[in-house]
Amino acid sequence: MNAQILVINAGSSSVKYKLFNFPSGSLILKGLVERIGEKGSSVKNHLQAIEKVLGSVKEKIGSLDKISGIGHRVVHGGEKFREPVIIDSSVIKEIRRNIKLAPLHNPANLEGILACRKILPNVKQAAVFDTAFHQTIPEYAYMYAIPWDYYRKYKIRKYGFHGTSHNYVAHKAAEILGRPFNKLKIITVHLGNGCSMAAINRGRCIDTSMGFTPLQGLIMGTRCGDIDPAIVLFMAKECGLSWDEIDKILNKKSGLLGISRISNDFREILSQVNKGNKYAKLALDMFAYSVKKYIGAYILILGGLDACIFTAGIGEHNSWLVNKIRKDLNRILKPAPKVLIIPTDEEKMIASLSYKLIKKRLN
Ligand code: ADP
Repeated sequence: MNAQILVINAGSSSVKYKLFNFPSGSLILKGLVERIGEKGSSVKNHLQAIEKVLGSVKEKIGSLDKISGIGHRVVHGGEKFREPVIIDSSVIKEIRRNIKLAPLHNPANLEGILACRKILPNVKQAAVFDTAFHQTIPEYAYMYAIPWDYYRKYKIRKYGFHGTSHNYVAHKAAEILGRPFNKLKIITVHLGNGCSMAAINRGRCIDTSMGFTPLQGLIMGTRCGDIDPAIVLFMAKECGLSWDEIDKILNKKSGLLGISRISNDFREILSQVNKGNKYAKLALDMFAYSVKKYIGAYILILGGLDACIFTAGIGEHNSWLVNKIRKDLNRILKPAPKVLIIPTDEEKMIASLSYKLIKKRLN
């Protein structure tokens, strides 16, 4: 059956959307509504943003009745959501409960869902969680070695993010290699503004570099990645910084930007390296080193490697980094694993997962 699936990625000040046709998976329309709630903007809230989105959809396909279902990106699914789900009031309650784990993302995701439900109450909607793909990580890998009660009371543990992207490129890799997904040992390397990696053993994610929040793991555009947690205490006690200031430094002023002192944009870093800037060179070396270190660890926990996949802005456009890793892997592993660049498409993955769920309800 032919179905039109609308994907909504609602952020705090923007809504990205894509409309797909299924079963072909072809893209019909995509767009962005920006500056939600900003001073002077005509879009006051998420309800108005979704009205705008649906206006464009209607213009394209003639009638909103032709929308078969809506798939929403939801950043945090906590421990409960291991798979995408059809949204009902209990799912909404749980997404709300997870706001404390993702205070910057889940509220906006929820606004998008509530607006769609209000305008199109009879259209089936699905939630696809960034964290879900990582829910197969074993307990010994997702727990932090802090007193157990912090897990019991506050659910402090590794969750991981970018799951939809890791899931998409890993499946694509299996398709390209012509081998079953559940037979492969894969490392996926998502290098965008946020950066993360996943170790996927025969179809199951067994570890990922981001943690309780997206701050852990690789060095990123403006995030510090792994640091000694005592640095945070030192910043508070010895540097006299407030918690908000520390938050801003580690999330917005660190990473490539903090070290290069120029930019969080990889292109700018590369151009400065070519001009002989030593800070840019250090940032680049640290970035490559952090990727390399995780790949090394993941090869051992996977017990081998069939394929290493690079994706997202930096991963898709920088053959320099990919070639460097390929050379290293060729040197130490026999047979040499495949090193591939695969463009990510989180919206397409959300659409396809939502379509699978919604199709069952349409028949
Ligand atoms: P986001 O995480 O916001 O989706 P992207 O996946 O778009 O981010 O990645 C952004 C990063 O990718 C930036 O550091 C940018 O410099 C880098 N990037 C994008 N295009 C290129 C390119 N053609 N060459 C080198 N780096 C690129």
